[in-house]
Amino acid sequence: MSIKEIDNKYVAHTYGRFPVTLIKGKGSVAIGEDGAEYIDMATGIAVNTFGYCDDFWVSAVAEQLMELQHTSNLYYTGPCARLAQLLCERTGMSKVFFSNSGAEANECAIKAARKYAADKYGKERNVILTLKNSFHGRTVTTLAATGQDNFHKDFLPLTEGFDYVEANNITDLIEKTDSDNIAAIMFEFVQGEGGVTPLTKEFVEKIFEIAQQKDIITIADEVQTGNGRTGALYAYMNYGVTPDVVSTAKGLGGGLPLGATMLSSKMENVYNPGDHGSTFGGNPVCCAGAISILNRLDDELMQQVREKSEYIRSELLSTGGVESVDGMGFMLGITTKRPVDEVVKECMEQGVLVIKAKQKLRLLPALNIPWDLLKSAVETIKTVCNKDE
Ligand SMILES: *Cc1c(COP(=O)(O)O)cnc(C)c1O
Repeated sequence: MSIKEIDNKYVAHTYGRFPVTLIKGKGSVAIGEDGAEYIDMATGIAVNTFGYCDDFWVSAVAEQLMELQHTSNLYYTGPCARLAQLLCERTGMSKVFFSNSGAEANECAIKAARKYAADKYGKERNVILTLKNSFHGRTVTTLAATGQDNFHKDFLPLTEGFDYVEANNITDLIEKTDSDNIAAIMFEFVQGEGGVTPLTKEFVEKIFEIAQQKDIITIADEVQTGNGRTGALYAYMNYGVTPDVVSTAKGLGGGLPLGATMLSSKMENVYNPGDHGSTFGGNPVCCAGAISILNRLDDELMQQVREKSEYIRSELLSTGGVESVDGMGFMLGITTKRPVDEVVKECMEQGVLVIKAKQKLRLLPALNIPWDLLKSAVETIKTVCNKDE
């Protein structure tokens, strides 16, 4: 049987896969089973921050792998401690909890906010506001946080205590926060799975103004927007605000599973020993890889991401088959005149891996994609989008 046939027979059918089997990759190029080469504009959904098998990342991971692969959280390890230090020094946050995925990073954020509110104001104050069209994960609680009914319907009842505000609607925000029971408001600065929609500056400023007045905890879900993806180390830095809690995952590990929940000084003492935990969280191999990633996310790289993003945007906007380009940095959502499924399929046939978000074409290239590969991928996308023009 082929890999595809074995997978279809034995792997649970929770995913619709593209008809491609990848066997290896280097940088922004992935290689299929039949030897076909693809320019990767999706990076495993914003995970392979420096592409496939990046030399620096591979050696950081391999060196740690030869020393110590796991200890549990009953012991101290260098990579875990140093990554937490690095994250705090680069963000101004005070403490970090490590887990293995975005959903878990958000669970930790939600529990932290509920505990803060309960400790200070009593147990009735437990509602977490999130935004409509948001995506926060697949566990029963992070599904409840996800403001999209179609994700909920088969799994009811979900965790109680969530309500949803329309993104970028200040009137709705004011109405929904007019209650003494709001513990936190949780949001993505750029809604990823929801269709690559950035929050407006006015809306974000209003969230922080109300949160400040009412001591509502602000939780930034930077699982996708974090780690340089939007052209800033974390997307909140583009908006000039400081969240109380920042969760991240995807690109942090550069391809190994790692989630992090960063707590500001206001939140740093909310958890006591035994309140929360994770067997694998803070794994030394994953943390060693993440340190090598974070150390390279400097101003120069962020500048290049912004420049290349502008290039993609202007090239695509000047093309007949493209209606609009949304997003920030290397997190872009493109509205095409042709049906997006056809565009994704044909780009793949022509050697460019792209994905979609709702009905938009979504691009999430490696932060260090070289100019020649980027230009070539953009040419292919343009040709495919313009086929009917
Ligand atoms: C991907 C994603 C998650 C879920 O992350 P997992 O690692 O799949 O659990 C949560 N929030 C956002 C914004 C995401 O993009």
